[in-house]
Amino acid sequence: MRERDIEAHLVKSVKALGGEVRKVKWIGRHGAPDRVVMLPQRPTQWVELKATSKLLEPHQAREHERMRRMGQSTWVIAGLDEIAHFLKSMA
Ligand SMILES: [Mg+2]
Repeated sequence: MRERDIEAHLVKSVKALGGEVRKVKWIGRHGAPDRVVMLPQRPTQWVELKATSKLLEPHQAREHERMRRMGQSTWVIAGLDEIAHFLKSMA
């Protein structure tokens, strides 16, 4: 499945739960997760979307690791089933 189709499904699913999704781009640095996901009364989640079976690039993995060390929650989502798992973990 293409990344953009997975992304569209994520946005639709989060909105259906009353949440908000925004595209993300760092200024002056590579490796930002694709999206930030906000759900009512839940901590902010950072999501990198990938076409099915694709992995993080090394620079993305390094940035996720830096963010996790700062207490941020980062996810890699590469399919519709992974969206379901992600949303279930937020319930
Ligand atoms: Mg991506």
